[in-house]
Amino acid sequence: MAYQSFHPPVRTLMGPGPSDVNPRILEAMSRPTIGHLDPAFVGMMEEMKDLLRYAFQTDNALTMPVSAPGSAGMETCFVNLVEPGDKVVVCQNGVFGGRMKENVERCGGTAVMVEDAWGAAVDADKVDDVLKANPDARLLAFVHAETSTGAISDAKALAALAHRHDCLVIADTVTSLGGSPLKVSEWGLDAVYSGTQKCLSCTPGLSPVTFSDRAVEAVKKRKSKVQSWFMDLNLVLGYWGGEGKRAYHHTAPINALYGLHEALVILHEEGIEHAWQRHQDNHLALRAGLEAMGLSFVVKAASRLPQLNAVSIPAGVDDAAVRARLLQEYNLEIGAGLGPMAGKIWRIGLMGFASNRTNVLLCLGALDAVLGDMGASIERGVAVGAAMQAYTQASA
Ligand SMILES: *Cc1c(COP(=O)(O)O)cnc(C)c1O
Repeated sequence: MAYQSFHPPVRTLMGPGPSDVNPRILEAMSRPTIGHLDPAFVGMMEEMKDLLRYAFQTDNALTMPVSAPGSAGMETCFVNLVEPGDKVVVCQNGVFGGRMKENVERCGGTAVMVEDAWGAAVDADKVDDVLKANPDARLLAFVHAETSTGAISDAKALAALAHRHDCLVIADTVTSLGGSPLKVSEWGLDAVYSGTQKCLSCTPGLSPVTFSDRAVEAVKKRKSKVQSWFMDLNLVLGYWGGEGKRAYHHTAPINALYGLHEALVILHEEGIEHAWQRHQDNHLALRAGLEAMGLSFVVKAASRLPQLNAVSIPAGVDDAAVRARLLQEYNLEIGAGLGPMAGKIWRIGLMGFASNRTNVLLCLGALDAVLGDMGASIERGVAVGAAMQAYTQASA
């Protein structure tokens, strides 16, 4: 067998992540690997922490990327803050809240669940009732942007409630970072994790996290050791902390970090408010096209994520066949439904670099052609025009 180099096809990624990677990031990642204690690398790390503070809109000293995907950022927050016997109020309105429950229980804690329908935002009134009924709870955990359903929750209001009840806040911002307004310090989010492959449009595999001083204090005051050696922040900070000499903890993923640095430079150049606005503008154009075609959104307008558009699959349409044709004929990837929504919805991502006019028009044109060809009951030939009209109105 003569094995050959792998050359992936060039796709347009409009699913729930990874999103299209900006070529500038791929180019940055191909630069020479240097040592992870090299002074030049250490200088880049310090800059990266500042850029992450900008992206998270925080001045938290402990702000850094965990060397593993978003799920590891999630685990970092839970293993450091949850001790055996702790009670944690966990909000679930999709897949990722369920993983938070799993994390709490594996840390020896008790999860008190606040459940909302898939596709709905977290209901702050219900959270308030549960916090009142559980005065011994130490933490409130919720997902800001539920990628499984396309719903955004009011992180600011939830954090305010938590603090009123003396709880620290763990927030999943994997899909919101860089795509939707997120103000970590102003809103008082204490332990926050994200990912690189959604609205930062970097390659997958790193998880930016940020911890408030209150959260760091709680980690330092733990009665028991953090059960994960790799994620124990007390140890990781010996490398990322920047106070005094850097100690070897694990070999940092050097080139992946070049990529994240470049992604953050790009975000800084654009300006974060502009990035939020761009996501919103492209969402409105996509929405105009999808609705003109006759497709309907799963989430009601007030809690819709601009970067993740969940639409119901029209009756009688074969979900997998449509996605396969989009991939084969248009090199276009859109996302399938997860869990109870599998086979019922599509998740169309407009994340980061992929949130642009070309992608909106490609996706609408391709869906129009494929659904029309398969005999679905849609309005044909109007989607692209409706989107173009939305852009004209937005710039008028
Ligand atoms: C993608 C995602 C994760 C998990 O990130 P991975 O990088 O796949 O581990 C967690 N939470 C949310 C809301 C996500 O969208």
